[in-house]
Amino acid sequence: MKQNKVVISGGGLVGSLAACYFAKRGWIVEVYEKRPDPRDPDNVGKRNHRSINLAISTRGLSSINRLSPDVEKKVMDIVLPMYGRMIHGLDGSTSAQAYSILGKAINSVDRGILNEILLDQCETFEGTKVFFQHSLEHCDMDAKTATFKNIVTGEDVFTSADLIIGADGAHSPTRKFLQYYTKVNIEQKYIDHGYMELEMKAKDGNFAMDKEHLHIWPRKTFMLIALPNLDKSFTCTLFMPWSKFESIKTEEDLNEFFEEYFPDSIPLFGQESINEFFTNPKGALFYVKCTPHHYKSNAVIVGDAAHCTVPFYAQGMNCGFEDIETLDTLLCEQAAPLIDSKDPVACQNIKTSSLTPEQIEAALIKYTGCRPRDSASMIDLAMYNYIEMRHSVNTFSYKARLWLEGKLHLIMPKVVIPLYTMVSFSKISYTDATIQWKKQTKALQNVVSVFTKLTLATVAVLLVKYSGPRLGLRLPSFAEVAKIFRK
Ligand code: FAD
Repeated sequence: MKQNKVVISGGGLVGSLAACYFAKRGWIVEVYEKRPDPRDPDNVGKRNHRSINLAISTRGLSSINRLSPDVEKKVMDIVLPMYGRMIHGLDGSTSAQAYSILGKAINSVDRGILNEILLDQCETFEGTKVFFQHSLEHCDMDAKTATFKNIVTGEDVFTSADLIIGADGAHSPTRKFLQYYTKVNIEQKYIDHGYMELEMKAKDGNFAMDKEHLHIWPRKTFMLIALPNLDKSFTCTLFMPWSKFESIKTEEDLNEFFEEYFPDSIPLFGQESINEFFTNPKGALFYVKCTPHHYKSNAVIVGDAAHCTVPFYAQGMNCGFEDIETLDTLLCEQAAPLIDSKDPVACQNIKTSSLTPEQIEAALIKYTGCRPRDSASMIDLAMYNYIEMRHSVNTFSYKARLWLEGKLHLIMPKVVIPLYTMVSFSKISYTDATIQWKKQTKALQNVVSVFTKLTLATVAVLLVKYSGPRLGLRLPSFAEVAKIFRK
């Protein structure tokens, strides 16, 4: 029986998870990654281009669980649960906002360690090879071939496959090649804000702040956030308009800025860490929506290559992991149509490595039928959540809604589901979550409007009843009201 081969460009988070899945399903797997092996002692501790830690939630964990509950356990052993937001006021006060009325948490995880767990896992499969320091140079999606440059020797490495997967990140070269072969609609937008990370070291061997919360200093047009790390430090990220970054030129400007907006953080950071502002790199924030995600049975893009997002819903990687779970489900459906392909236990032993090109294409058509729409919804939610995080969390209306939705969710868990719960603690598609949320918003607005009108009418009646005689006003009689309505 023929054994299919997959070539994956990019061995980051999503590429390494994809490698594990395809290896598990019996495919020959080759991963080509531009960077050096992060597990190599020479590279350990070297900073990646991106955030040090990320929040992994239900979608990401579910995808790892489908691959292997043992791997999920390895991941859960290195996470720090965050049960809510800790809002830091201008006066240094703090207030907690739970993520879920049921006490659920999202999890802070070290990007590098998570990547290493997945790389280790894919290399446990015979027939899987990972080539580091190999950069995609050319991809012929009709011939299903790719050429990678060995960055160390300068040599060109030619390979062929039954399926090529582009998991090569936000600036994906595979996405660019896909455009030569099929009509790809692309929307890309840079936002006016950038980000910079600052480290808040452990204080006297302990966390400097509560480790069970994601800390936010919301300042309307910008914000500072902090996620805990296993070594008891926090990775803090400052999200700000570029103009604000540029306005801070001297140490004096910087200290004034921190004193005005984040006064309680100053003793926690210490001057040395604050001064990292002048040396740490700043990152741009943009999103990419595109469709289709595949070409025939030959190639498909996943993760940031297919849907790079701004990071404000902490869903970029989670959505990328969900891509791989979805792809696997659709391939399993082709291999074993009588089995419930969504059930990880029922699918445990399915092999997809001898699927025909027609079957692979059928799965990829379905993949493009759902993922571009869902990832676009995820990106829209992330854009919305930036306003929520930097501003709304401080407003009365937001807090009132959070409270009301939480209570209603307890009474009618299937009818009213807070948006955060649908996005972070469920696998409801991002598109359906958005639709349900809009419906809920309308219903809640109607309830609040009726309640407000009733309250106003009651106040008016009471005023006229008790103060009316003094002011020469009286309540109309029933007959008078009936007469008005008859007219
Ligand atoms: P990447 O992680 O970018 O990996 C792509 C890989 O491809 C890289 O290793 C790269 O070296 C390699 N590559 C690139 N070009 C080539 C080439 N030519 N040849 C071979 N290999 C190549 N997501 C969350 O879910 N939760 C969060 O809390 C969260 N926080 C974030 C905070 C910030 C500040 C940012 C910027 C992002 C955050 N994200 C978060 C998003 C998350 O980082 C990405 O969605 C995730 O890294 C995507 O994984 P990926 O494997 O698709 O891409």
